[in-house]
Amino acid sequence: MTLSASPAARAAQLRALLHRYNHEYYVLDTPSVPDAEYDLRFRELCELERAHPELRSADSPSQRVGGLPLAAFGEVRHAVPMLSLNNVFSDMQADDPAQRHAELLAFDARVREGLGRERVEYAVEPKFDGLAVSLVYEDGVFVQGATRGDGSTGENVTENLRTVQSIPLRLTPPPATDLFATPLPARLEVRGEVLMLKRDFERLNADQAAAGLKVFVNPRNAAAGSLRQLDSRITASRRLAFFAYSLVEPDGADAPPSHSATMDWLQQLGFPVCRERTVVCGVEALIHEYESILERRATLPFDIDGVVYKVNAVADQHQLGFVSRAPRFAIAHKFPAEEALTVVEAITVQV
Ligand code: NAD
Repeated sequence: MTLSASPAARAAQLRALLHRYNHEYYVLDTPSVPDAEYDLRFRELCELERAHPELRSADSPSQRVGGLPLAAFGEVRHAVPMLSLNNVFSDMQADDPAQRHAELLAFDARVREGLGRERVEYAVEPKFDGLAVSLVYEDGVFVQGATRGDGSTGENVTENLRTVQSIPLRLTPPPATDLFATPLPARLEVRGEVLMLKRDFERLNADQAAAGLKVFVNPRNAAAGSLRQLDSRITASRRLAFFAYSLVEPDGADAPPSHSATMDWLQQLGFPVCRERTVVCGVEALIHEYESILERRATLPFDIDGVVYKVNAVADQHQLGFVSRAPRFAIAHKFPAEEALTVVEAITVQV
């Protein structure tokens, strides 16, 4: 690939490359490059398309979410699309904090401008490095589980999700209290991340290697490969974890007024919700939380690849809305690429 190629030729090269990476990552669960390399190419394509809007095509990876769902699973049409998150990165080499976190400051400025507000309240939580799933409950009973797929259509993995111990199969709302004032709607859709704890990943890979089977490049791919099994007994034999991180607003029913209240409510209903979550005001506090979570990253029992900030008030989220493949009210603040080395090493071991 040459940097002297024309913008159109370079964009075509990047699109082909990213389509391949997406297929390897989302469909085959076997990436051939570290995420940092993917992110670099993805950004290059976005910048090229920003500078030359005529190069943007509807099928460009910059306009789409995920990969095509595997036909072997039944299809689930998502009632509300499952989108991605836009990313910001920090330049950890920059001495000046404003320069170091310039992309985050720009995100906060856009949000404040959109809301006409001086300071905004954000919910902060780790960015789990697993795969997104949707769980549907009818009258409190788990009836359907799906992967994100291409955002509109996911794979029906209901039977496999049933084997994940921490996913409640029946919701038992506690008696009404101040904290639990929102009634359980007839149809409830919860979204969250399926992942594999680091210790279970080590154990799985040791077992796979001992049996002469494929070892996984990282816990994210082990989780995706384990969930997307046609035989749910295999999924059951792998230890998968789940954390809820959002609620699809129920039609015609009450919902908690903020993201943080939603998380408390889901926790009360029996969903596992991450402990490392806070609510803060203003961008300085976001930077503080980012640095604090980055410092604790290695001590967490699961992989994270950044921190997610969400405008806390649901009414403000509505006002900000969405761009093509992501909400305007949330952003993923990615960590520096430590994974680049480990993944390359893991791939080397596999070869
Ligand atoms: P993303 O992973 O950057 O962000 C969106 C996802 O974040 C959501 O779908 C959800 O699953 C997850 N998430 C985790 N914690 C969350 C939380 N607290 N709240 C809300 N969502 C949360 O976007 P993506 O579109 O899923 O994937 C793109 C990323 O995947 C790339 O940036 C790259 O890192 C990786 N990727 C790598 C390759 C490769 O070949 N190595 C290929 C494709 C994608």
